[in-house]
Amino acid sequence: MSYFNDESMYREIIIDHTKNPHNIKKPNDDYKKAYLKNPSCGDEITLYVLYDEKENKVKDITYKVSGCSICCASASMMSELFIGKTKEEIDKIIQNFNNMVTGQEYDEDMLGDAISLKGVVNVPPRIKCATLGYKAFQKAIGDSHEM
Ligand code: ZN
Repeated sequence: MSYFNDESMYREIIIDHTKNPHNIKKPNDDYKKAYLKNPSCGDEITLYVLYDEKENKVKDITYKVSGCSICCASASMMSELFIGKTKEEIDKIIQNFNNMVTGQEYDEDMLGDAISLKGVVNVPPRIKCATLGYKAFQKAIGDSHEM
């Protein structure tokens, strides 16, 4: 597939997630939550994570997000990737996503639709938009290590 086709396919995926964000619902009190803002773009997210400590599994994720399409689409893609996964699996995904947007080596197979955001590596101000949801996740589950 040519570079051009990849680009337009990725744009379609981003637009789809922006128009029809996945996993939007009303969370209850069992969800851990975290709020984060990206002042450079004006993006805001409140992320809700339903984490089962016994099973070490993320049972559900939902969010309220406002901001640019990169931020909104990224949160939707992230929710798809994380639901049903363990903390360790999610740590690996976060590592690979972070590597992708900062131009380091990464594993495409782990990233699902989030691969469509690879272009932000060429637009440094957008990196914070793409990673805001991931940082909110780490904050919500009390993971102190920084991305
Ligand atoms: Zn943004």
